[in-house]
Amino acid sequence: MSDGPAYGFDTLQIHAGSRPDPATGARQTPVYQTTAYVFRDADHAAALFNLQEVGYIYSRLTNPTVAVLQERMATLEGGAGAVCCSSGHAAQIMALFPLMGPGRNIVVSTRLYGGSVTQFSQTIKRFGWSAKFVDFDDFDAVRAAIDEDTRAVFCESIANPGGYITDLDEIAKIADAAGLPLIVDNTSATPYLCRPIEHGATLVVHSMTKFLTGNGTVTGGVIVDSGRFDWSASDKFPSLSEPEPAYHGLRFHETFGPLAFTFHGIAVGLRDLGMTLNPQAAHYTLMGIETLSLRMQKHCENAEKVAGWLEKHPAVKEVTYAGLESSPWHDRVARICPKGAGGLFTVALKGGYDACVKLVDSLELFSHVANLGDTRSLIIHSASTTHRQLTQEQQVAAGASPDVVRISIGIEDADDLIADLEQGLAAAGG
Ligand SMILES: *Cc1c(COP(=O)(O)O)cnc(C)c1O
Repeated sequence: MSDGPAYGFDTLQIHAGSRPDPATGARQTPVYQTTAYVFRDADHAAALFNLQEVGYIYSRLTNPTVAVLQERMATLEGGAGAVCCSSGHAAQIMALFPLMGPGRNIVVSTRLYGGSVTQFSQTIKRFGWSAKFVDFDDFDAVRAAIDEDTRAVFCESIANPGGYITDLDEIAKIADAAGLPLIVDNTSATPYLCRPIEHGATLVVHSMTKFLTGNGTVTGGVIVDSGRFDWSASDKFPSLSEPEPAYHGLRFHETFGPLAFTFHGIAVGLRDLGMTLNPQAAHYTLMGIETLSLRMQKHCENAEKVAGWLEKHPAVKEVTYAGLESSPWHDRVARICPKGAGGLFTVALKGGYDACVKLVDSLELFSHVANLGDTRSLIIHSASTTHRQLTQEQQVAAGASPDVVRISIGIEDADDLIADLEQGLAAAGG
């Protein structure tokens, strides 16, 4: 698509980044199932390897199908560029990789996807990195946690699993005052509901496995760079501001400006870490994104109905959905997620752990799976599954207490979902 008029989201989710195939006229983006690309001649090959010319070398770094998805995601998030990778967790490591080094830390929200809590509290220690977990509603605590070795601030827009919405504007101000990039995991909201860059985020990461693909067929991730962070303003980000020995002393920020992070992600991150998205997965994700806005509207509409019904059920202790008037974060919806609070929430049952397990086992339409953001409605008892590796204190902080189930509302008929929950709660002893 050319730089024409400023199109709306529904148009961009179909057209951004794609054009009829120049070789065949194929209207849909072809799956370029190829590992390598023939160089025009030796000079062309040298220019590509020196990053003097942009083009295709080898599919660990770049692939035309993946490139369309990168451009589409950058456009939908309002960023300068994007790098796709093999999963949401890969995107998190790839986002941190150019910023971090041994002894450096990140300041992160306690309210995160369970796998991210494990990645940040355990696995990144192997690289000599560490994370400080803070309640992101306590702005003074966030400020106080930042020290000389901090290299990024990390949170989720709509936090999984608890239906919590981060005040991105306030957190962005804190990161900005400290000269640090804010990284926002926008998986649960998608760019249709929330555009973190408009609230001051530097980088946006996604698990494309969830709502973006939307049908539970692939794992994929992406990092979108706003292109707005000044990597050379301090000496904190030498990978982007200092000469890179593997490219004859090229400085990424000086050379590529707002695309520095994107080029580094491809030319160093994908080249050496190899967490590449395959073109077939990119194809499925592109298919999913074409209907993103329609699905997200229905996810939100259904979630509001089901959460509202559950809240009044006698077996239910609490429903945490930011779309409900009763939510302490309800007033943030209009500002942070103006089109709706998403399709995810948690339900606490008066019957505790046992009732949760029985509910999960009794449902017929809801699938008991460790996934979210599918067209199908999904349920999981986080404390015995995704958040099992965490301490009880971490579980509670992450909104995954033992008496809580996480629900991802699909796009089926809301009445059918309510009927299934009604029989499930009755079976659970409600
Ligand atoms: C699923 C998920 C991830 C991890 O993504 P994968 O594609 O499973 O690696 C990260 N963050 C959030 C919010 C998620 O829901």
